[in-house]
Amino acid sequence: MRVVVVGAGVIGLTCAHRLVRAGHRVEVWSRDAVQDTTSAIAAALWYPYRALPEDAVTRWSAATYDMLALLSVRPETGVSLVRGRELFRQRQPDPWWAAAVPRLRRVADPPPGYADGYEFAAPVVRMPTYLPWLLDELAGAGVAVRATAVTDLPAVPADVVVNATGLGARELAGDATMTGVRGQVVRVADPGLAGWTLDEHHPDGMVYVVPRGTDVVCGGTAVDGDESTSPDPAEAERILARCRALVPELANAQVLGHAVGVRPARPAVRLERVGDVVHCYGHGGAGVTLSWGCADEVVRLVG
Ligand SMILES: Cc1cc2nc3c(=O)[nH]c(=O)nc-3n(C[C@H](O)[C@H](O)[C@H](O)COP(=O)(O)OP(=O)(O)OC[C@H]3O[C@@H](n4cnc5c(N)ncnc54)[C@H](O)[C@@H]3O)c2cc1C
Repeated sequence: MRVVVVGAGVIGLTCAHRLVRAGHRVEVWSRDAVQDTTSAIAAALWYPYRALPEDAVTRWSAATYDMLALLSVRPETGVSLVRGRELFRQRQPDPWWAAAVPRLRRVADPPPGYADGYEFAAPVVRMPTYLPWLLDELAGAGVAVRATAVTDLPAVPADVVVNATGLGARELAGDATMTGVRGQVVRVADPGLAGWTLDEHHPDGMVYVVPRGTDVVCGGTAVDGDESTSPDPAEAERILARCRALVPELANAQVLGHAVGVRPARPAVRLERVGDVVHCYGHGGAGVTLSWGCADEVVRLVG
């Protein structure tokens, strides 16, 4: 079948990868260059953040975990498996997505101020390496990427169109349930951190520290309805202060850059076929985490 995937973020590119391997003739159409997508900003730690429903997200996350773990043995992909800890100020039950992770353990010695935590190995995806790797894979399989903005999905000439437009689906699919959630990050030089650290419920705002080898992504923020994309210097200082308090090894790490992305949030991920259009968008703060699992389901829906 001839399939056009609209969107060249991590969702569109992963769907195209699975679809061409399944034997379809695939093209990717995108308004923005890959490096200008939200996906290029992602930290990108495997973690089911701001995405629902729980049962499907657990299934998609588990499938993606397995695929990213396989890719982590190939350095050219930019994927690595890194141990890390999520910390809490109060005792916690197991997370709802625990079944997606092999060997999730309790933190035996939470640092001062924390009462509990989970510890596990998670895929960390260096997006500036991974997205070009995906593009190379697609080019090798004969998939063309075309720069064009789509205004009418059914008018796209294809047997099936995959709508992987992230926040763009608000207009393209007339979906008023989409919300942009602004996220700001600061990149610093990696002082050689052994693992990632996450404190989603810090009273002053979420904190995550994701080492990627040469740099560390420090976050962050999650502001619903804010779609401004210029980094705020005062916000950057607050992010750095929280990250340095949690991970003191960052105290003298040189700042390398600032970035802002707008997460495509929705009350639940939309993954369904309507006529000749397969919708796959609304992955919130977990597009990387869900990408391979969702792409498998897109292939099934394309048929
Ligand atoms: C600061 C930050 C940190 C994050 N950290 C993580 C993380 O650690 N782990 C994780 O899993 N996720 C993380 N995310 C979330 C993740 O980035 C998103 O869920 C993911 O990028 C969504 O991918 P997407 O392909 O759906 O959308 P996008 O990357 O936004 O791509 C959408 C594509 O659709 C195209 N498009 C839109 N409208 C049209 C149109 N009308 N015509 C043609 N093309 C169109 C765009 O040009 C683009 O190519 C983070 C996000 C932010 C902002």
